Amino acid sequence: MKVYLDHAATTPVFPQVVEVMNQVMLEHFGNPSSMHQFGQDAKVYLDTARSQVADLLQAKPEEIYFTSGGTEADNLAIFGCAVQRAEQEKKRHIITSAVEHHAVLEACEELAKHQGFALTVLPVDGYGMVAPESLAAALRPDTALVTIMHANNEVGTINPIRELAAIAHEAGAVFHCDAVQSVGKIPCDVQELGVDLLTCSSHKINGPKGVGALYKKAEISLYPRLFGGGQESKLRSGTENLPGIAGFGQAAELTRLNRRRHSEEWRQLRDYLLQQVLGEISESRLNGHPTQRLPHNAHLSFNYIEGEALLVYLNMNGIACSAGSACSSGLAEPSHVLTAMGLNPQMLASGIRFTVGLGVDLPQIAYAADVIRDKVALLRSMSPFYPGEGTQG
Ligand SMILES: *Cc1c(COP(=O)(O)O)cnc(C)c1O
Repeated sequence: MKVYLDHAATTPVFPQVVEVMNQVMLEHFGNPSSMHQFGQDAKVYLDTARSQVADLLQAKPEEIYFTSGGTEADNLAIFGCAVQRAEQEKKRHIITSAVEHHAVLEACEELAKHQGFALTVLPVDGYGMVAPESLAAALRPDTALVTIMHANNEVGTINPIRELAAIAHEAGAVFHCDAVQSVGKIPCDVQELGVDLLTCSSHKINGPKGVGALYKKAEISLYPRLFGGGQESKLRSGTENLPGIAGFGQAAELTRLNRRRHSEEWRQLRDYLLQQVLGEISESRLNGHPTQRLPHNAHLSFNYIEGEALLVYLNMNGIACSAGSACSSGLAEPSHVLTAMGLNPQMLASGIRFTVGLGVDLPQIAYAADVIRDKVALLRSMSPFYPGEGTQG
């Protein structure tokens, strides 16, 4: 059996998305900036996709800017805002959190290292959550930007964004939120969250790879990162990736229509996995927040086990999951997220992430749970440190 439990890394595409992308590539291949009929046909797809993505986020179409993905949207928000406010208002301080995706962390560190910005990296609690009080204490009169993720891509913990954004605003800072993991899993309404800038990515919501969007509230101005033909209201030049954008739009619409039903299904599958694994394996635990977490995420640690070793055994049995995040697995580096959460070395080394999604069903989870139990027992039997069943909790 093949079981894909790595939906936080990327997702399969909805069949309807492929259909729309084919139509665009084969028939409506014009350049949306062209005046002729081919161009205008293509522009309809661009406008439709913009409305579809806006509807998913409860934004206005003119507040959506297409990019090449979540990474570019994060970079556009962070550099665009930081450079703008440094130039206009001499504000050169930025705040982020220790558990952000590398697209946010590395962008902030680049501003600090090479562009003269001051950077504060907020700590998180044992669940991976940012405390509003720690943000309040870090804000300064010269804080230009606060960038904090909605839900963590490794452990699935959800931050209190509405509260954090309100605190940032009181101090005159712009608030950006990386919502790549939360969109499609929990409500992500930009009004409700109270954010100024928000990043989302197509391939995490069953759309194609290489396309994403930045939501930008009308009142906020950003300095562009890419210069050229002036597409995307001069904020992001370059001929639009129209097949990708049309596919993203279609995925956004299907996500909006099915989110409640899908996320409830995924929650049930995830909970069944937890019950079958945590309930049956001694010295196993769930990492991240027990309730304030994404419905499709189970991040587990098994004492006396190397996460990477378990991953290899699971892969040999057709089960795909992740140790650390997709970007850092392969390297034997400990996860910056689990490290910031203060996990002990044992639990840190054995951390492994299972994320369910489209196409996963109950028999697959039952199979995966069997294999996990089996392989954890096997690896423990080979460990010189494992005291054996029944000797400890
Ligand atoms: C996947 C991911 C990104 C990067 O998005 P891409 O579209 O792959 O560039 C950024 N932030 C988070 C939280 C992610 O999970």
